[in-house]
Amino acid sequence: MKKIQMLIDGEWIGDQNDQWIDVIDPASGKLTTQIVRGDNAHADRAVQASKNALKSSTWKSVKPFERGQLLQDTARYVRENAEELARLESLDTGKPIGQANADIEAAARYFEFYGGLADKVFGDTIPIEENLVNFTTIEPIGVTLHIVPWNYPIQITARSVAAAIATGNAVIVKSSEDTPLTTNFLAEWFNEKLPKGVFQHVTGYGAEIGAALSSHPGVDQITFTGSVPTGIAVMKAAADNVVPVTLELGGKSPNVVFKDADLDRAVPSIVNSILQNAGQTCSAGSRLLVDESIADELLERIKERFSGIKVGPPSHNADVGPIINEKQYKRILAMLGSIDKNANVLAGGKAVQVKGYENGFYISPAIIEASSHSDFFVQEEIFGPVLSVIRFTSVEEAIDLANDTPYGLVAGVWTKDIDRAHYAASRIDSGQVFINSYGAAGGVQMPFGGYKKSGIGREKSHLAVQNYIQIKNTAIQLQL
Ligand code: NAD
Repeated sequence: MKKIQMLIDGEWIGDQNDQWIDVIDPASGKLTTQIVRGDNAHADRAVQASKNALKSSTWKSVKPFERGQLLQDTARYVRENAEELARLESLDTGKPIGQANADIEAAARYFEFYGGLADKVFGDTIPIEENLVNFTTIEPIGVTLHIVPWNYPIQITARSVAAAIATGNAVIVKSSEDTPLTTNFLAEWFNEKLPKGVFQHVTGYGAEIGAALSSHPGVDQITFTGSVPTGIAVMKAAADNVVPVTLELGGKSPNVVFKDADLDRAVPSIVNSILQNAGQTCSAGSRLLVDESIADELLERIKERFSGIKVGPPSHNADVGPIINEKQYKRILAMLGSIDKNANVLAGGKAVQVKGYENGFYISPAIIEASSHSDFFVQEEIFGPVLSVIRFTSVEEAIDLANDTPYGLVAGVWTKDIDRAHYAASRIDSGQVFINSYGAAGGVQMPFGGYKKSGIGREKSHLAVQNYIQIKNTAIQLQL
């Protein structure tokens, strides 16, 4: 077993003097590897190395187009190693290999996209008055901290790291305790290609090295993806240092199905939106809001599709893999166990034993019709393969229900009526609205982020570079 060391200041850190944390394969419950339990001293060292890298002319003198080329090379490297990266991602997360392949391609697209943008981030000239030359210049914001969760490790790492490197920053990635493998793979590459301290990878518990870095006065910007409580803690820590945060905190995203929807198109998309990655997706379509007049037919068709779903490990080529770890598995089962008797469980929601993988964390996909929209499983993010269903009888009611959670990340609207589609899309409080689809092939070019408790700021797209820059205004008074 190869242990995963941290990459700090161009050195591989982690030996017998360090404490190590076990990383478990969720498909089998077996040990995959170990990571270093990073501490405050590691955090200090990483931040100092980033600061030094930013000061050094070795990184400063790399031109924007050269940073772009490096990122394009990274995209090629990711694609050349797609098979191995997908294997590692699938081993770490338990996700089916087909989904891991899609994640690796999405990561390559982020490196490609921001590689292309690196030399296209411009300032402005601002007309004020005669003899005053006024312009803005773009500078890197500095040391950027990227706290990454376990559900899409390489994609989430790539999307913010690529934008930060494109704009000339020094990045520190804190990978999740559950999923260090693909970030380590990228660390090996960047260690060869970038000056030391420009890309660093640290590991350990969130409450330890994660908190130490979030509150570190040397960190200039934080991009965090994960739970709402941790996002709040990170934001509070950043506030003490007056440092900006980009937060992506999940959702309770609805698919709103009107009576004239094309169900042949809607059904596979709705099913995929909740079962992809075993429902452990921030933008999962975890609420189904359906017009009363078509509800029975739609639910029958979704149930039929659920009955053909195979739950199991990546090696079985299953449709739905395991839950990431024992804690999440028990949490989801406990939530399912406490669902009110008035709710109607239409499918699944039970622990599943897979032969030969008895210690894996499997749950059968659930469809649960709620008696009230205030039921906790309709309001709270379960982060598992659980679809909650509510019926509506009018467009206004559908919109009110769509907006009736603390979240606002993504929504799907299903209708053939263009007026109704736009009417609903413009009134749903959500960072993205898909009409007659849900999700869009990675969506690298599309701004992504939340209203309400789903987060702050936007990732993906050309807009994300704004998270990683300072804008300096300079005014020159001419005297002739
Ligand atoms: P989490 O928010 O605790 O962890 C996410 C990342 O933050 C990890 O890298 C973790 O090490 C780090 N972290 C934890 N505590 C920290 C702290 N005090 N300071 C700095 N960093 C810290 O999430 P979790 O415990 O892995 O999962 C719990 C719930 O979070 C899930 O059930 C789900 O609802 C949500 N979640 C959301 C996403 C998403 O994509 N939005 C991803 C994973 C989990």
